[in-house]
Amino acid sequence: MDAIIDRIKEKDPEQREFHQAVEEVVKSVKPVLDRNLEYRQQSVLQRITEPERVILFRVPWMDDEGQVHVNRGFRVGMSSVLGPYKGGLRFHASVNLGIIKFLAFEQVFKNSLTTLAMGGGKGGSDFDPKGKSDNEVMRFCQSFMCELFRHIGPNTDVPAGDIGVGAREIGYLFGMYKKLKNEFTGVLTGKSLGWGGSLVRPEATGYGNVYFAAEMLATKGETMTGKRCLVSGSGNVAQFTVEKILELGGTVHTLSDSSGYIYDERGVDVEKLAYVKMLKNIRRGRISEYAAMYPEAVYTPVNPALTSNPLWAHRADCAFPCATQNEINGEDAGHLVAGGVRLVSEGANMPTTHGAMEILLDNRLLFAPGKAANAGGVAVSGLEMAQNSMRLSWPRAEVDARLKQIMKSIHKTCLDAAEEYGSPGNYVAGANIAGFVKVVNAMLDQGLV
Ligand code: NDP
Repeated sequence: MDAIIDRIKEKDPEQREFHQAVEEVVKSVKPVLDRNLEYRQQSVLQRITEPERVILFRVPWMDDEGQVHVNRGFRVGMSSVLGPYKGGLRFHASVNLGIIKFLAFEQVFKNSLTTLAMGGGKGGSDFDPKGKSDNEVMRFCQSFMCELFRHIGPNTDVPAGDIGVGAREIGYLFGMYKKLKNEFTGVLTGKSLGWGGSLVRPEATGYGNVYFAAEMLATKGETMTGKRCLVSGSGNVAQFTVEKILELGGTVHTLSDSSGYIYDERGVDVEKLAYVKMLKNIRRGRISEYAAMYPEAVYTPVNPALTSNPLWAHRADCAFPCATQNEINGEDAGHLVAGGVRLVSEGANMPTTHGAMEILLDNRLLFAPGKAANAGGVAVSGLEMAQNSMRLSWPRAEVDARLKQIMKSIHKTCLDAAEEYGSPGNYVAGANIAGFVKVVNAMLDQGLV
């Protein structure tokens, strides 16, 4: 196994996030490989860590002043053994092939856990929509789709949103796809409700995250009621994580963006959350404005001299990282433990470093890895695909009930797999093992292709 990881690192030394994601899975599935000679003979690890395909393309676009810019577009199809590639598009300045490969790799196991028929993929661009006009974003999305449309389709690859890609971007991308292909199909999920979107899709990742946390608490005879929570991010996942925590009786005291964070001792209530949604989704403003609007809150800008994030040092019961990868390091994990946190549920993908995860697990916190806790988003994307195929729209209560049931079943699957392979109560091991076994069995059934 070490040799496999070494080879991956030698091949693409700069893809650090990909190495990190692979190492976590490989470590977890060791007991599975130890018990199964066929997996080793069939080189399942080597196969599962090499993308089936990688598409890299130029995206030229023109700004409002007539200046031409060039960005890079990516789409990685990691595994299609369980269904068409499925996974979001991320538009953020930090995007590179290593980040897209890590996200696509995580997506394979996440999608497997949902029990829906979806393979794993991911894509995006180093284009940053922040500060761009609607017209600039539209021109970029159209140019991006002018290449991507050749590689996707409702039975091939079905992208969705991620950081920097919300309803606005999905609309522009879909419009160009439809024009180029001359067909109206469910090729993207996260569409607006009026033209093929699913009820509860915008809420699904955040709601699912909290449903999963509630399941974990239930194993200790506890509920979300009265729990003090720290949430990072202020985008899609963070907003609906907050909404569900409030609905279940918890309180939320922090929110952040890449410039800084707010701490509100009185709590982010329903009215303040409505303001955050307007601020972030419509005005596209900064979280610092929250403290101007609600003077009881304190805003702390990011301090590059610090090696830890003070957001995680506040006293709380539960933490929900919902911004980006590696936002909780070892020092932050120490602060979480010292601050009384007993549960961490990852709304973001891989927000916790290896070192931090070890500290949290050693201190026996309830720890939910993103591939389990944030699977609600792609699960409802799968339900959106099903509704599109039938040309039907299910009622809100039905989609929400299915989401809740899927999160409950992922929770049980993780616990059962962890127990079977000797790591009872370890959701990281459970999620990796359960996701892995289903994918590699399908891979072997389908022969050496
Ligand atoms: P959004 O773009 O809606 O929000 C992202 C939030 O995270 C913003 O507040 C953003 O701040 C902040 N952020 C982004 N990059 C950084 C950074 N480098 N440092 C600090 N803050 C940062 O994205 P989503 O809410 O959709 O996604 C958040 C996370 O959840 C990601 O890890 C994503 O992969 C994961 N996820 C999303 C799903 C979905 O359905 N949307 C599904 C499953 C996982 P700023 O505005 O300053 O950039």
